[in-house]
Amino acid sequence: MHYISTRGSAPSLDFEGVTLAGLASDGGLYVPQEWPRFTEAEIAGLAGLPYAELAAKIMSPFVGNSLTPDELHELCATAYGRFAHAAVTPLKQFDEQQWLLELFHGPTLAFKDVALQMLGLLFETFLSRSDAHLTIVGATSGDTGSAAIDAVAGRDKIDIFMLHPKGRVSDVQRRQMTTVLAPNVHNIAIDGSFDDAQASVKRMFNDSDMASSKGGRFRIGAVNSINWARLMAQVVYYFAAALQLGAPQRKVAFSVPTGNFGDVFAGYVAAQMGLPIERLIVATNVNDILHRALADGDYSAGTVTPTAAPSMDIQVSSNFERLLFDCGGRDGRAMAEQMRSFEADKAMQLTNAQRTGAAGLFTSARADADDMAMAMRWANDAAGEIIDPHTAIGLFAARQSDVSADIPVVTLATAHPAKFVDAVERATGTRPSLPTRVGDLFAREERYDELAGDYESIASYVAERATESR
Ligand SMILES: *Cc1c(COP(=O)(O)O)cnc(C)c1O
Repeated sequence: MHYISTRGSAPSLDFEGVTLAGLASDGGLYVPQEWPRFTEAEIAGLAGLPYAELAAKIMSPFVGNSLTPDELHELCATAYGRFAHAAVTPLKQFDEQQWLLELFHGPTLAFKDVALQMLGLLFETFLSRSDAHLTIVGATSGDTGSAAIDAVAGRDKIDIFMLHPKGRVSDVQRRQMTTVLAPNVHNIAIDGSFDDAQASVKRMFNDSDMASSKGGRFRIGAVNSINWARLMAQVVYYFAAALQLGAPQRKVAFSVPTGNFGDVFAGYVAAQMGLPIERLIVATNVNDILHRALADGDYSAGTVTPTAAPSMDIQVSSNFERLLFDCGGRDGRAMAEQMRSFEADKAMQLTNAQRTGAAGLFTSARADADDMAMAMRWANDAAGEIIDPHTAIGLFAARQSDVSADIPVVTLATAHPAKFVDAVERATGTRPSLPTRVGDLFAREERYDELAGDYESIASYVAERATESR
């Protein structure tokens, strides 16, 4: 399998190459040259497999020759063996139409673990084949940071630098990052938003002093969903859920609480592979750039409003570029032009092809604070389920959609409610407790540095601490 950049001028790479590269050297994102396609009979044959085996089957065409079948199986078994539920991503039922797919049974209590447990093992496997050292630089709105740190802490060929927006992540989220004291883990709180942090990260990939792909000193890697391997791992649970609900004979819709458009793009990939998905509902909070883009073609970033669902407080959704590229005729040169204009003006219009392409599968909805609290109360009243604020936004969008009554709608439960305990208590009166697997989080020592949000101070912080690599 070969991967090409959405902006058309970076070299095409194999799976090992894209996993280690993260962002393409032309500023674009890597996508497979073509979508692997499963026949209906092949999909039917996947029903009933244990999660790790299903994962290996789905990932196999994307991985190509970068891993042997045995290596891939073993990595999947190790990654998904760390989950606290035997089904890895169990399904629960609310009522005749509404379902919940729990993605938070990994070590750090959010769906990010599903991909990052795998990505940490992929990094280790690929780095062991040479003497390269990887410097991971990431931005987090809260959950990617803890999941990535858990996945790579203590690994000797990796340093991780994780930027989070100071004061805008929950106490549980922050402590899950800052109490990991392994010497290869570097937490940085910046003055600014997630979007500011992510912009600095992207800039570092294109900095000729820093990035080895540009002649600089460090091999910089990505754990954000700009890294293709993350999306690949997330495709698996769309198959797992749909198969349980009767696919391929029966269609299924998904409602996905969305920030950086990674999770829901994995659903789009599942559909391209042949999974019969009726619809993907993009659920946003008041930071609704994606809702506006899908409803009106207006992709324009406002300023970020902090909400009770901080992992969705995002205005620039990196992975949307992958969708626009695929729906817009896969024209890298045109995409590069369109993104240049977005980067200059913070606004752009979707083309007709992009709008019609997206409309074939996606609808969207925006939830404010009341909508979110109401959905949390409904889940509790209807099914005795305590759900987190992000999941509540997905459930709100699922319940107000007009998907036909005979098609199941699965809301992705992206985080454990105890990660956002104050918001959950405000809405429901119930204070969910942390699962025992997170241990004595509130007793542990924290370590992190604070930096102003400007690129230069971040780059020099990394340069002083990272290990050079060619
Ligand atoms: C990251 C995250 C999201 C948003 O996912 P994207 O892939 O960025 O769209 C939603 N909910 C939670 C809890 C998250 O951690």
